Amino acid sequence: MVSLNKVREFLVKWFRGPLGIGEAREVFYSIGDPRRARVKVRRVFFVQGFELLLDQVIMPRFRSVNLFIGIGAVRPEYSLAAVTGEIDLGAEHLVYDTVQYDFDCKDDPELAVSRALEFARSLRERYQVDPLVYVTGCKGARLVIPLKKPTDYEGYVLLARSLIQPYRYTQIKCSGKPLVDPSMFNDAKHPSRPPFTYNVKDDCSANRNNKGHKGFAKPIEPRFGAEDFDWSMFNPLDPGEVTVYRIEVDMPRPKLLRPRPRATRGPKKPLPRSIEELAGSEAVPPCIRNIIETMVRSGDVDHYARLALVWYLKWVGFDKEQVIGFFAKHARDYNERVTRYQVEYAYGLRGARRNWLMPSCRRMKQHDLCLGCGWDRNPVTYTYARAHVPEEIRERFFEEIKRGKKEAVTR
Ligand code: SF4
Repeated sequence: MVSLNKVREFLVKWFRGPLGIGEAREVFYSIGDPRRARVKVRRVFFVQGFELLLDQVIMPRFRSVNLFIGIGAVRPEYSLAAVTGEIDLGAEHLVYDTVQYDFDCKDDPELAVSRALEFARSLRERYQVDPLVYVTGCKGARLVIPLKKPTDYEGYVLLARSLIQPYRYTQIKCSGKPLVDPSMFNDAKHPSRPPFTYNVKDDCSANRNNKGHKGFAKPIEPRFGAEDFDWSMFNPLDPGEVTVYRIEVDMPRPKLLRPRPRATRGPKKPLPRSIEELAGSEAVPPCIRNIIETMVRSGDVDHYARLALVWYLKWVGFDKEQVIGFFAKHARDYNERVTRYQVEYAYGLRGARRNWLMPSCRRMKQHDLCLGCGWDRNPVTYTYARAHVPEEIRERFFEEIKRGKKEAVTR
């Protein structure tokens, strides 16, 4: 049985956050199920006000309260205005000291939990960080990555997208909804249920699949008690470590009528000769650099992301044996026969024997593989505009595009 005093102490530490910058945050609580609770409050508290709230409202009726704390801390210069309600809190007032993901599946919470643990393992291997994973007491798990340095909302979104991009969990549907809640990418005020609190919802307590986690949010990796908690137990992520995080995002918008992409900055250089080195090349778009980097660091990337990488490599001049060699070296689940078939298929040498094109930026966005660099055409033309790629490959690419357009018109 967790002591309420220990939980109270824990919640105050959680509110302050790993960098101690949480002097004021938005708090949301409801007494009973939030969808029909008569008492529902959402407002910004200073940490001292939050302590009073805990003592006078939350702790006395702990088992019937849903508590959520904002992921973003209010910037000190806005905290008084935010607490007194003089400003409508928005992204420009917030700063982030963690990156968080919600893995939810109403019909199969264990699937959501297993994917959260899989993602945590990948993060540990790629960045030597210690994410916390806790079940949220109903439909799945939350994964929290403490940061070494704070970031603004734009940086938060880019960082959160870059870290999860090679896995596309937002594309996996479960109970009709994405496995990872995409609202974390477009809601600066996204609130978060802290561990060691109750999930008070009618349909949660009735959820028979929710083996042993019913209604209570508790850590599962690592397992720790409220009394043991300190943010220093967790190795934080340095945002500067995430290569893609440092990309330039204010790229020129494409013109509508553009006969050929042209170099936008300086003379073109040759592309690096090894696929691994592409991850550090400015001529490679961030979506592709991130997939390569993840494959090199963790050997584990989602199937469609691998396919996009193979198509990209094909259209910038790598031959199939180099690509197979790359997967042989890095893929954790490497199988020579399967990889050879899939790469040769993507190169149009097997199966339908089509000269598959690299998916457009629009298609990459639909598959949640775009990191929003602003190019918005095709990832290979990003490279054509910045690096030397054999002329016959470029010409073939544009011919295939033209042919595809003609077929679409005549069909
Ligand atoms: S806009 Fe295109 S090139 Fe840029 S990250 Fe998105 S998919 Fe990649």
